[in-house]
Amino acid sequence: MGHDYQNRLARAAKEAAAANLDALVITPSPDLLYLIGYDAPLLERLTALIARASGSPLLIVPELERPRAAVSPAGKLLDIETWRDGEDPFDVVARVLSDGQRFGAADRMWAMHLLGFQRALPSSTFVLASVVMNRLRIRKDEGEVELLGRAGRSADDTFDVITREGLSGQREEAISRKLSELLVQNGCESAAFAIVGSGPNGASPHHEAGERTIESGDAVVLDFGGRVGGYCSDMTRTVSVGEPPAEKKEVHEIVRQAQEAAFQAVRPGVPAEEIDRAARRVISDAGYGDRFIHRIGHGIGLEEHEHPYIVEGNSEPLEPGMCFSIEPGIYLEGRFGVRIEDIVTVTEDGAVRLNNAPRELTVVT
Ligand code: ZN
Ligand code: ZN
Ligand code: ZN
Repeated sequence: MGHDYQNRLARAAKEAAAANLDALVITPSPDLLYLIGYDAPLLERLTALIARASGSPLLIVPELERPRAAVSPAGKLLDIETWRDGEDPFDVVARVLSDGQRFGAADRMWAMHLLGFQRALPSSTFVLASVVMNRLRIRKDEGEVELLGRAGRSADDTFDVITREGLSGQREEAISRKLSELLVQNGCESAAFAIVGSGPNGASPHHEAGERTIESGDAVVLDFGGRVGGYCSDMTRTVSVGEPPAEKKEVHEIVRQAQEAAFQAVRPGVPAEEIDRAARRVISDAGYGDRFIHRIGHGIGLEEHEHPYIVEGNSEPLEPGMCFSIEPGIYLEGRFGVRIEDIVTVTEDGAVRLNNAPRELTVVT
């Protein structure tokens, strides 16, 4: 998948200038991957892209990483400066950058590196690069939506297999491992996470799959995702092992309706928080308002959680190309939990789901 890195770097330069920054300073992170496609190792050794508002982009890398950096997707677009083990990389920084400027430092930059930059450029100002990077990354282009869609289909296929095979009598951790394997078998380059919360464990939204054996009568929250071309999937379905009692059916149906209401509310121009409200209204009306204990969703892309956050207080209008989760839940402590999660992309006509596994309560053995 060829992303247009030249265009991304040009937009970064333009947005940096608009934000009154002289350059972005981007160490290994999803931001670096986004801008130049270089999946640099996250190390104590300094690697940093200097994306200037005017002038060509510069990559500072350890000598031993130069070959990898040079052949990375945007390698040819960059000037490369190297430093060697035993040298202080911030001597290179002080030599190639002028002081007294305004820099946007990657949000994920390690403190040891940021403090090094500040030492090398003592009269400069550093702010978070997200003021620029969010604007670039928040709307996905066609190629990115395509990768998110492929990651979503692999989650759908994984769900299909796991529900046909059944869960009863197996430990959560075994199902979690199986979900991870299935994601890879179904097209992901790697699995990212696989939450399995059975019975009372389902009431903890981010429960870590453990030793509990799944039994008949359990509701089981399955929340999993993998990566395709670096882009994530993140899907949740809650299944019933054996025929569910009336209450579980009812709670599941409330969550399903809340998820649908939020989905229907998505259109360009609608404030992000309205999507959260649409789902919360359904759950509150059903009497479970205080049991929906998290925001409705999060943006997704090169990171599992990124902007836009779909939460009360975020009045940012939705725009075509934004991709995020819609994941209402009801959590009944000590008893069970239900969550349904899809990734959607905003189009001119509303939302399109990138996951399509059945949202009705699936009964498994
Ligand atoms: Zn989550
Ligand atoms: Zn999830
Ligand atoms: Zn999620």
